[in-house]
Parts: sequence; structure tokens; C-alpha cells
Amino acid sequence: MSLKMPLPDQRVLARRDEIITTLRRIVPGEGVIDQPHELRPFESDGLTAYRQPPMVVVLPETVEQVATILAYCHKNNVKVVPRGSGTSLSGGALPLADAVLLGMGKFNRVLEVDYEDRLAVVQPGVTNLAITKAVEGEGFYYAPDPSSQIACSIGGNVAENSGGVHCLKYGLTTNNVLGVEFVTMEGEILRIGGKALDAPGLDLLGIIVGSEGLLGVVTEVTVRILPKPETARALLIGFPTVESAGQCVADTIAAGIIPAGMEMMDRPAIHAAEAFVKVGYPLDVEALLIVELDGPGAECDHLIGEVEAIARKNGAVTLRASRDEAERLAFWAGRKAAFPAVGRLSPDYYCMDGTIPRGKLPRVLQRMNELSAHYGLGVANVFHAGDGNLHPLILYDANKPGELERAEDFGADILRLCVEVGGVLTGEHGVGVEKRDLMPDMFSEGDLRQQQRLKCAFDPELLLNPGKVFPSLHRCAELGRMHVHRGQLPFPELPRF
Ligand SMILES: Cc1cc2nc3c(=O)[nH]c(=O)nc-3n(C[C@H](O)[C@H](O)[C@H](O)COP(=O)(O)OP(=O)(O)OC[C@H]3O[C@@H](n4cnc5c(N)ncnc54)[C@H](O)[C@@H]3O)c2cc1C
Repeated sequence: MSLKMPLPDQRVLARRDEIITTLRRIVPGEGVIDQPHELRPFESDGLTAYRQPPMVVVLPETVEQVATILAYCHKNNVKVVPRGSGTSLSGGALPLADAVLLGMGKFNRVLEVDYEDRLAVVQPGVTNLAITKAVEGEGFYYAPDPSSQIACSIGGNVAENSGGVHCLKYGLTTNNVLGVEFVTMEGEILRIGGKALDAPGLDLLGIIVGSEGLLGVVTEVTVRILPKPETARALLIGFPTVESAGQCVADTIAAGIIPAGMEMMDRPAIHAAEAFVKVGYPLDVEALLIVELDGPGAECDHLIGEVEAIARKNGAVTLRASRDEAERLAFWAGRKAAFPAVGRLSPDYYCMDGTIPRGKLPRVLQRMNELSAHYGLGVANVFHAGDGNLHPLILYDANKPGELERAEDFGADILRLCVEVGGVLTGEHGVGVEKRDLMPDMFSEGDLRQQQRLKCAFDPELLLNPGKVFPSLHRCAELGRMHVHRGQLPFPELPRF
């Protein structure tokens, strides 16, 4: 791999047997995996370009086991990488050769559902979709809906602040989590937030959500659940240009309409999705919008009419409104299957995730096409259009020498472009290892030092998920004095990757 990770600590590797023996004592039975062929399934996450078998995998079942493992690793200077379902697209759960991979998959129970207060208390290994499945019988659901919701865990969603097509109206994970139980690297069990709508003190919950496994391990999550809207209808709208589709998105929001979802696909993504799921997407358009409206039936019908009028004004060439639930789901089926569909276009793809001001979409897409020609690699685009969140899927073949590196350079240029037009490096997939080295394109040295001070407050020895998010390691004690002078970095002995 072209990615640089911290060099494994040979002193820790020399103690591997002793570490495994201790972990087996903490988690008896089948909770420790240490054989090379059994470690293979854990060697990467959803960012499959990078692989590294962990030193050992441990699968605890109780909070006390998690706390004991972390306290032991802290005391013995052993790194820990938390893992949920391993679907991260930014390499957040990529193992390290000298680290314990802490799998949270056995924390898979829904602990409590309170319909009166509209909340559910769940363990972190419960999948996103399983929360909705647990409450849908009573007419409720959990709103954030990543396309990976059948597999990804709520613990991973909390760590990545995940989003989905319905987050435009209902908010991201951070807007739908009320509290967590959380274990620090030292093994202390904390409760942050809870069942009430607000908690006293600093908003530590806002720090934990999106912390990418760098601050502690989430062992319980309290989420909001919402009553299912009375009606939901979707529009499938084809446009002759990306510009006209982008203008339709801007005009809809400007009209004060907040759709439940507003997704866009470009021509390559439309063709890939239609070939995969065959739901009748128009093939003679440059951009396709799926707009969902929900709420009471009359309101929904009225808003459908409003969005149709805005779409026509912007030159829509095809326009269909779903007539029943089956048709609404069919409209979404192609979008939800866009990633696997694009996976059929080339042996590998690299999924980027950046956010731009909505109005900059045509300019960004035009530049992306130029970059595609420059790097000789195809690209298909799906967007959370309402949020300005882009997901360019760069097509490459890892078996062809140099293609992965070209895909990485192409991806980096796209993310730099997002920053250049006033956007940000991430949308919902996190920084992980994928965007780590681009952080200085977005943040100043001072910004990064400030962020790392927060990390140091939770994990001063930098043992939790190191090598992720921050482009270089500063020893916590030295942070105040870190200063780059004429390109000369002080403390040359510190690992920089
Ligand atoms: C096909 C596909 C589609 C996707 N679509 C979307 C989408 O629409 N929207 C979206 O936001 N994401 C999407 N993703 C990305 C991914 O599913 C999310 O980031 C998800 O939240 C990861 O959850 P996970 O359980 O798989 O976490 P993992 O991949 O196991 O881990 C992700 C990060 O969370 C940390 N972590 C995991 N569990 C814990 C815990 N209990 N405590 C502390 N840290 C923890 C890990 O250390 C790592 O940094 C998609 C991925 C795929 C493969």
C-alpha cells in the first residue's frame, strides 16, 4: 500500500504471546482470535485498498470486559483499534500490526424502547437497520439511514457521525443521539448525555459523536426514534444538464421546502444503477434527481406539485411521481444500490466523500471531468444533493501497476477542489486514513494542534486508533511547543507518517 502508517513497536510484538494470554483471561471462550488465517477477515474495512492483519482480535461481550481490556492495554502501552461492522469507507477501522483490534460485534442487543419518550437504548453492535426493525411494529423508525444500514453498527455510526438520504430533513447521527456509555483508554466507564433532551455541563456528546474511535469506546447508545410519517412520496426527475438539476435543488430549498431526501446521480451512475436493478431510470438524461416528500397526505401532495413546478421551470425532461409505496421504493432502489452497481463497472472503485456549497456543483463536476481525463480513470457521481455532499466513485483496477496510486491522487485532487470552492474534506464517511494527509489542506497547524490537544485530554499516550485522522503525531506533552520554522520540524525523532 502507498499509505504510510506508524511503524510497529517491536517491543510490543515481542510480547504478543503474553498479551494474547492476558486477553484470553479477560474474555474466556471464543473471544480472542490470533491465528493468521482467522485474522484475515479483519485485515481491512470498507476501504479495501488498504490491508493490514491486526496483532490479535478480541471480541468482548460486557462493558466490564471492555474496561479491563482498555486498562490492561493502557498500562502495557498496547495500541487499540475499535471496530464495529468494518464498513468504514475512510479506513477508520484499518488494523495496525502491533495493535489489538477490539471488535464490538457481540454488543448486539436492543436494551430498552421507550415509545412515550421516543427513544431506544441499544448496544453499539446493533445494526442501524435493526433499530428501525425493533420499533417499526409500533409505527416508529430511526431516521439516519446510511446506504450500508443493513450492515453498519450504531457504534460505527456514532464514531463517524454517519448520514443518509433522510438526513437533509431529520439530521445526521449527531442530531439523533441523546447519550452514550463510553469507556476511556484508561478503562473508566463514563455516561455522557442520557434520556433527557439536554445534559448539564459541556457538550461532550458533541465531541464523542464523530470522534472516529480516537477518544474512547462506545458501549451503549441512546437514540431518538420518530413516528413514521403518515405519507411519503418520491419524484424521479431527469434533466438534460447537471446545471439544471443543481438549479432545481437550489430553487427547491430557496422556496422553503425541505424534502425528506434529495439525491442526484450523474449519467454514469444512472446507467450503472439501471443495469443493476432495472427500475426504469431514464437513460437519455445527464442528471437524475430523486426527491422525497413526507408528512400528512395533503401536505405531501401539495409539495409534490410545488417541486414538479420548480423542476419544469428548470427544464426537466422526464418527471414521475410515485403512486404507491412499491413505486417509491423502486425509485430509491437504484440509488441505494449505486455503490454495488458501480462496482460492476470496474474491478475496484475508490469512494470519495466531500462537501461543497450546492451552487458550486456544476463547476466541481466540470473540473472533475477534466481530472478524469488527466488521470485516465473513469468516475461516477452520486450526491446527497440537498446537503451538497458528493460521493465521486473513481474507477480503477488494483491489478494494473500504478492505478491505485493514480486513483488516490485523483481523489486527493477532488477533495482539494471541495476545499477550494468553500466546502470541506468530509461529508459523512470520516477522515480515517483516507483523508488524513489532506487535513493540512483544510486546517492550519494551529487548528490541528488544537484538535490534537482534545485527543490528548482523553488519550494522552495516543494509544487509541493511532495513525488515523491526524497527519502526524505530536507527543502530547510537547504540543504547546510544536512549531515549524523554515520547514524544519522540531523533535525529528517523532514518527511522521
Ligand atoms: C456500500 C456502503 C455504503 C455506505 N453508505 C454510507 C452512507 O450512505 N452514509 C454514511 O455515512 N456512511 C456510509 N458508509 C460508510 C459506513 O457504513 C459508515 O461509516 C458506518 O458508520 C461505519 O459503521 P461500522 O459499524 O461498519 O464501523 P467500522 O467501519 O467498524 O468503524 C468505523 C469507525 O468507527 C470506530 N468505531 C466503531 N465502533 C466503535 C465503538 N463502539 N466505539 C468507538 N469507536 C468505534 C472505528 O474505530 C472506526 O474509526 C457506507 C459504506 C459502504 C460499504
